[in-house]
Amino acid sequence: MKETGARAAELAANLARVEERVRTACEAAGRARSEVRLVVVSKTYPAEDVRLLAGLGVREFAENRDQEAVAKAASCADLPLVWHFVGQLQTNKARSVAEYADYVHSVDRIKLVNALSAAVRRRERPSLNCLIQVALEKESGEGEGRGGAAPAEVGALARAVADAPGLRLAGLMTVAPLSGGFAGRPAAAFDRLIEISRDLRATDPAANMVSAGMSADLEEAIAAGATHVRVGSAVLGVRPALG
Ligand SMILES: *Cc1c(COP(=O)(O)O)cnc(C)c1O
Repeated sequence: MKETGARAAELAANLARVEERVRTACEAAGRARSEVRLVVVSKTYPAEDVRLLAGLGVREFAENRDQEAVAKAASCADLPLVWHFVGQLQTNKARSVAEYADYVHSVDRIKLVNALSAAVRRRERPSLNCLIQVALEKESGEGEGRGGAAPAEVGALARAVADAPGLRLAGLMTVAPLSGGFAGRPAAAFDRLIEISRDLRATDPAANMVSAGMSADLEEAIAAGATHVRVGSAVLGVRPALG
């Protein structure tokens, strides 16, 4: 393991580079830097790295596996952090996720809405912010079995979240598709997400979060209008396979 001071310096340098990319992208899009929040995806990296990043001013972190997230959130419980859950979520993990997550970005089916609502009520915590994950590839019949709802399902899911006790409809999330008509076209994909977000905001003006863009495509997401970018490897380093 790297010496703490060296790792801290590495993270600081990476974070500065990402911050500069975000700043430049905002400027190019004519947007204020304050319109875009940086969420650091800490999956596969240890709680020590979260702690070092917190020391550098990062407050928002994301995880994609419940088991790993539980442990990390617990060992950082003394820090004023906001936790985002961004992975595919099984209904039997809803209770656990509702314990530490402030935001769930991967709401993609009614069963999960009901499970999260029940979990939050049982734990008597404040409203859980929910984002509908949109799988844009499903618009062209691809992406079967992957996480995310087809664009045509977003309206009904949004209604279900808005009506579910304990849940707050926060907005939409997407991952640039690897298949279908949007494969290799992140800018077009994010523009489509913004279109769907506009429809949603027509009925739910407060559901204005747009979570899009990762290490490889944060510029395209910011240009389209993303409010939250989820950046992992550009800050923490490339993950060793599986992540
Ligand atoms: C891992 C992950 C990210 C971050 O990806 P990087 O390419 O490492 O920046 C963002 N969103 C989700 C849903 C992820 O699973």
